[in-house]
Amino acid sequence: MLTKDTIAAVATPLGEGGLAVIRISGPAALAVAAAVFRPAGRGAAPPTEAPSHTVHYGHIVREGQRLDEVLLTVLRAPGTFTREDTAEISCHGGVLVTRMVLAAVLAAGARLAEPGEFTQRAFLNGRLDLTQAEAVAGLIHARTELAVDAAHEQLAGKLAGRIRAVRDALMNALAHIEAHIDFPDEDIAPDTQAALLDRLDRAGDLMRELLRTAREGQILRRGLRAAIVGRPNAGKSSLLNQLLGRERAIVSPVAGTTRDTVEETANIRGIPVVFVDTAGLRETADAVEAEGVKRSRAALESAELILHVLDQSTPLGPDEAALADELAGRPRLMVLNKHDLEARLQLPVGWEGIPVSCATGAGIEQLKDAIERLVWSGAIAGEPHQLTVNARHAEALRRAESAVGRARDTLATGESLELVAFELRAGVRAVGEIVGDTATDDLLDSIFRQFCLGK
Ligand code: GDP
Repeated sequence: MLTKDTIAAVATPLGEGGLAVIRISGPAALAVAAAVFRPAGRGAAPPTEAPSHTVHYGHIVREGQRLDEVLLTVLRAPGTFTREDTAEISCHGGVLVTRMVLAAVLAAGARLAEPGEFTQRAFLNGRLDLTQAEAVAGLIHARTELAVDAAHEQLAGKLAGRIRAVRDALMNALAHIEAHIDFPDEDIAPDTQAALLDRLDRAGDLMRELLRTAREGQILRRGLRAAIVGRPNAGKSSLLNQLLGRERAIVSPVAGTTRDTVEETANIRGIPVVFVDTAGLRETADAVEAEGVKRSRAALESAELILHVLDQSTPLGPDEAALADELAGRPRLMVLNKHDLEARLQLPVGWEGIPVSCATGAGIEQLKDAIERLVWSGAIAGEPHQLTVNARHAEALRRAESAVGRARDTLATGESLELVAFELRAGVRAVGEIVGDTATDDLLDSIFRQFCLGK
């Protein structure tokens, strides 16, 4: 085991709740627990003597004073998340009670954990590879069922398995090449060379296949940025409310960077769709601050999906035709709103829209279907994959792929085997970073810092 001290943190969210869990991990975890925990009942075993995976009822005591009535779970290494001895105290979820119990635990010799430090220990102790550690964070941050599925697949080690297969293929080729470098008199036999080229091609194919999932992975993790546009009163706000609908519970407000706009995320058929603010778009430039218009423009330009809302109870305005022209060729759906009212809108030839009524909710499910189809149609992304790479994996894969490509070309021309080996080593290193075999401390820190406290 690489880590020596014992860490502790509140593992449940801050604030009042029925219960809070304080997690303690490290070689002294059970001794720390024993110092603060008094089991109820005469003759009950202290945590240091309790068998693994057992729960004990008692009190947290500090300087003779009872702080709370708790349940203590004793988990012994290596069958724990961190692979270290672990104690979990379930106490009452009051803010003050929780803080007092944590303070008692810290006073008994534990150190307050850094964000992500429990998961970091799980990684350092070989319980998880780096992609699995990232999946733990992915699971916590997942906003839709598809994202949860993808995180579970990654947590199960499926991505790591593919990466290791690539790495093994490259190492195997490298071993062959290095053997030939050691015996420079022997030329590489043509069939050996062909077999090696074949192996490198296959590794390249595997990497490109994984790289193709990056876009889908980004959508599942970060969400798809969408804009709702249309003239005032077309029903844009009503549509947004309809799309957020009962899924409002999963809405996560994200503070905007330039002002405090709130972006809202709707769960549309498992796709987190982040609606960006384009409120200032159609106001005339003299009526509004130019800055607001500029921001709305930028939001529209960066949107990956556009919902153009038309009010079909009024005739088409000239500005609406211009907007439609401007949006042509981008991933866009026309929404013909106010279907419950009499139709007065003549759709120009070639325009196609989805009739909805934000007043009654009619057509909203069809609109969601259309969004789902558009997203996975290839216009925005390919099919939804359960196994996807994130931006960090993609960057490393691209480096590895180009190094392996160069190794392959050099090998094909029969030039310097040293150069082939050099490139292959670079490829092996890059692929190794993904699972954490060759990751630097800086990389590890930046990954684990994204976790919440107590995880
Ligand atoms: P925005 O300015 O584009 O955001 O439009 P709003 O969402 O604020 O809607 C403008 C007005 O149209 C409001 O009074 C809504 O109640 C009304 N409205 C929106 N959608 C419908 C609809 O489908 N049917 C009817 N009859 N009225 C609607």
